[in-house]
Amino acid sequence: MKNIVIYGAPAAGKGSICEKLVEKYKYNHISTGNLFRNLDDSTEFNRKIHETIAKGNLVDDETTSKLVQNHLETLDNNPIVLDGFPRNLNQAKILDTFFDNYIVINIEVSEMVALERALGRVTCSKCGKIYNKYSESMKPLKEGICDVCGGDLVGRSDDNEESFKTRYNIYMNNVESLLNYYSEKNLLFIINSDQKSPNEIFEEIEKVIK
Ligand code: AMP
Repeated sequence: MKNIVIYGAPAAGKGSICEKLVEKYKYNHISTGNLFRNLDDSTEFNRKIHETIAKGNLVDDETTSKLVQNHLETLDNNPIVLDGFPRNLNQAKILDTFFDNYIVINIEVSEMVALERALGRVTCSKCGKIYNKYSESMKPLKEGICDVCGGDLVGRSDDNEESFKTRYNIYMNNVESLLNYYSEKNLLFIINSDQKSPNEIFEEIEKVIK
C-alpha cells in the first residue's frame, strides 16, 4: 500500500476517505490540524500556536515540519496518509528531505457541491465519525445520533456559508502551485468527486494505492 499526501477543498470528502483508509488498510492518518489542536496549553509556545490557529493563520513552516517529522518517527510500519501538510511549496520541499515514496491524491470538487456538503456535515462529538444530513448514503439512521457509539452529532463552527467561502478561496489560491509541483514530478492523481458517493471515491483511490 502506498503512502499518500491527500489534498481536497473544504468538504471535498477528505475526512471520510482518511477514515476508510484507517479502517480498511490500517493507515496512519496524520492530520496537522488535529496534531495542532491536540497540543496542550502547558507552554507559551503551544499557547501561541493555539492563538495562530484560532485566527485562521498558518503556523510557521519550521514548527509545522518539525511536528510532522517528530510524529513520523513514532509510527509503526503501516502506510501513512498525510492530510493538511504540505500547505505550501516551502513545506513540500522540506517534506522531501525526510519523507519519500509517496503519491499525491487531489480530491476535486466543484464549489457548489462542496458548499452543500459543508452545510450538511455533522460529526460525532464522541468518536469523530462523519455524517451528512443531505446525503442518502451518509445520513445517520437516527437524526442527530451516531450509529456507531450513540454520541451526539454536531456541526462544525466553520461550516457556515461565509466561512466556507473564505476557506475555499484560500485553499484554491494555495493549492495550485503544489499540484503543479507534484504533477511535474509525476506523483499526482486527480479524482473528481462531484457525482460520487464516498464509497465510489474510495474505490477509485483503492485502484491507485495498491
Ligand atoms: P486544518 O484542520 O487542516 O484545517 O488545520 C487547522 C489549522 O491548523 C490551520 O488553519 C493552520 O492554522 C494549522 N495548520 C494545519 N496544517 C498546517 C500546515 N501544514 N502549515 C501551517 N499551519 C497548519
